[in-house]
Amino acid sequence: MVSTKTMEKYAHLALKTGVNLQENQALMINAPIEGADFTRIVARKAYEMGAKDVHINWADDELTRLKYEHAPDEVIGSFPEWKVKLHDTFAEDGAAVLSIKATNPDLLKGIDSSRVAMANKAAGEAMKNFRQYTMNDRITWSIISIPTGDWAQKIFPDKSREEAVESLWEAIVKIVRVDKDDPVAAWEEHNQTLETAREILNRKKYKKLHFKAPGTDLEMELPEGHLWKGGSAVSEQGIQFNPNMPTEEVFSMPHKYRVNGTVSSTKPLNYGGNLIDKFTLTLEDGKVVDYKAEQGEDTLKHLLDTDEGARRLGEVALVPNESPVSQSGLIFYNTLYDENASCHIALGKAYPTNLEGGSEMDAETLDQHGVNDSLAHVDFMIGSEELDIDGVLEDGTTEAVFRNGTWALNVKGD
Ligand code: ZN
Ligand code: ZN
Repeated sequence: MVSTKTMEKYAHLALKTGVNLQENQALMINAPIEGADFTRIVARKAYEMGAKDVHINWADDELTRLKYEHAPDEVIGSFPEWKVKLHDTFAEDGAAVLSIKATNPDLLKGIDSSRVAMANKAAGEAMKNFRQYTMNDRITWSIISIPTGDWAQKIFPDKSREEAVESLWEAIVKIVRVDKDDPVAAWEEHNQTLETAREILNRKKYKKLHFKAPGTDLEMELPEGHLWKGGSAVSEQGIQFNPNMPTEEVFSMPHKYRVNGTVSSTKPLNYGGNLIDKFTLTLEDGKVVDYKAEQGEDTLKHLLDTDEGARRLGEVALVPNESPVSQSGLIFYNTLYDENASCHIALGKAYPTNLEGGSEMDAETLDQHGVNDSLAHVDFMIGSEELDIDGVLEDGTTEAVFRNGTWALNVKGD
């Protein structure tokens, strides 16, 4: 088994580099019940660091599935008011939020996908206010993962449950740099590299990116005033934090009305417990006008039908193929991990923070600037070692941004 010492190092990293917990701050943790041991270590460390309150929302895959199997539509399609209140209360108090995601990717296999869509939509609507806090960095938040049995066995189907969990711990520890003597220092260095990449892109101010790979030929304009982000973020209170661990991406937003061409996925997408695989989208003036999927086409249709904005793009992220997630050679069936293996784009809502002054704009102004809005935000992978990206500068000059799945720009600063 993974040692307690390793779990303590990981917990410390999540609190320090992840949410950057401050003295006298409350902490809300979303955690799988299977990860109770690790979660208790996090809670104890949080109190040691001066947290005034640690509240845990336990998730239980088995109970989630039971509910989908038995509860009537009106229950599935509604979201409890008290849950909304709970989240809003912590957010208003300036709490930090740590989410530990470790869901079985096949959890909802066989469940009617319209019921899943109904639940996702209800949750999306109900949690609108809370989402403003995280998506605008009004509070510090972080998403990490730990192994659970079902998830680990999905990745390592030939291993026993115990061996699979052990192997997944090994992979995670390496990818999030917990195997380093000083993981917090290792993350500072890593954040620096991502900062260099985003600074170069923010200087270039590309008007357009052109993605070319087998099954992909996509021309994507970027809105005027777009900003590249990545690595650490800074909250409204000026606290530096890392929203995702791992993170290997620098990301910005496509113009919601100016994307044209076709794009093909390069890894399976786990959406609400269902897999969508080997799919292609065709976009015209920013909108998905055609799609097909070898697996999960129904689920893809429900995702696209969430609302008007779910057919448009809200994120573009660049990740070099040599990222440690990619190097692990594993498919994690978990977006937090898989999205850091590869370049990706997202259907749905854009982060207003990816536009100069975006967090202060109202919905109409955001739309005028080409910023997409939706209840959905779903990343899917389009990167591979065959992906080339060209960047078109303001004056029309075209230059190489990515070649064969990795940076053609000098992001290492050498
Ligand atoms: Zn991303
Ligand atoms: Zn995303």
